[in-house]
Amino acid sequence: MNKMPEALNKCSARQAFLASCAAKTRLLHTPVSDPYEVSGHPNPAGLGDAGPFSQTGSWGQSSVLFPTLETYRQADGCGRASYGGAEYGVVQTPEAEAVCKKIAALHNGHGAVICPSGLAAIATTLDALAPKAVLIPDCVYGPMLRLLNRRRIKPFRYPAGASATEFRAVLEKASSEYSQGQELLVYLEAPGSGTFEIPDIEGIAAIAKNAELRTVMDNTWASHIRFLPLEHGIDIVIQATTKYEGGYGDTPSGVVIAKDPQDLQHIADELRATGNGAVAPTTCSRLYHRLDSTEERLNQHAETAQRLMDWFLTQPFTAGVLSPALETSPYHERFQYYFGKGNGLFSVIFQPDIPANKVEAFADALNLFWIAESWGGHLSLVLPVHAKREVTSMPDGYVLRFHAGLEDYQDLLRDLEQAAQDTLLTAPAGTQ
Ligand SMILES: *Cc1c(COP(=O)(O)O)cnc(C)c1O
Repeated sequence: MNKMPEALNKCSARQAFLASCAAKTRLLHTPVSDPYEVSGHPNPAGLGDAGPFSQTGSWGQSSVLFPTLETYRQADGCGRASYGGAEYGVVQTPEAEAVCKKIAALHNGHGAVICPSGLAAIATTLDALAPKAVLIPDCVYGPMLRLLNRRRIKPFRYPAGASATEFRAVLEKASSEYSQGQELLVYLEAPGSGTFEIPDIEGIAAIAKNAELRTVMDNTWASHIRFLPLEHGIDIVIQATTKYEGGYGDTPSGVVIAKDPQDLQHIADELRATGNGAVAPTTCSRLYHRLDSTEERLNQHAETAQRLMDWFLTQPFTAGVLSPALETSPYHERFQYYFGKGNGLFSVIFQPDIPANKVEAFADALNLFWIAESWGGHLSLVLPVHAKREVTSMPDGYVLRFHAGLEDYQDLLRDLEQAAQDTLLTAPAGTQ
């Protein structure tokens, strides 16, 4: 593989930095300090002797065997094998059923299904409910817009941090075009992707219920630890379990949890019809156990994020920090009411007069924060926020979103310090 020279330099700088880090940080980063060695994947299958073992699931084989035609016919009729799982081992394997049962119980839902990604869980839900138009928050997870476009479902955007009144105004407009209840769906995601606004969730759910519209909430930010949407009037919950539930970036998956048995049946039928529920059994098994430690990990992510935000808030290049966990956030009251505690995510707005290339040099100069999509795993990450807003304004200035991983926070602070010294805090030429 060809390494670009600047990437080579970065690898040795990173290794040198790691040598000075606490054992906890080195444990997380050392195996992947050179992404060329692992093709950019932080959880390579072949790490030592554990590799082959972790790839062997007990199930996850397409053919499920039956001793007689009659036992097969019974299983085919109801879609389930007498051993547990489906009669054909592609969707809803026994591992999938186990993790779905656990997740549904954590949410007090009627049941759950699992899909191979968070986005697949969103797509499956939309396809099962087949609305003609969807009310979405302006801050919605970007790929959702692409999906609505492909499905020719009309989006009606409401403000990211909408009050009940603001939501009602958008609903009135949508209802004048789509008057049949089944045609319209109310979709929520909070706190919003990249900028973390929080709308009046209970207010919106109550208005939707009154109008006899179904509500679906993307609860990925919170996970079941911080928020249980079904207990606040929401009908269907989606969670990208790729993120915090799995916690190590090795559980690409998404779950859909429903309160109403009929809704769940529609969604399960959709999966059986499309085959889009094929999730590796190893993923399900990992998820099944990681659910037990989600809360501890989330608490640590949140504590570290708070320390990093505190640091950013004292820096001259910071114009603002976006996180509803901050007392200064306009959404702090709703945050306390619904979520109570934060997670590892926050965004930093840089002073508008700082050129973009300086902010990008800062991101590139970091050793422990990898430039990568997704979040919720053990490694700290950073990425620019390019939100396409229509009814909510974006702040002036470059915005970087950070995810605080499980490293020792003092190492992360030291890393931010050194990157800022080399890029953002250097005095312009001629001012000394
Ligand atoms: C990441 C994410 C998803 C999609 O999950 P994938 O597993 O990456 O497809 C959906 N919603 C939100 C809010 C997310 O952050």
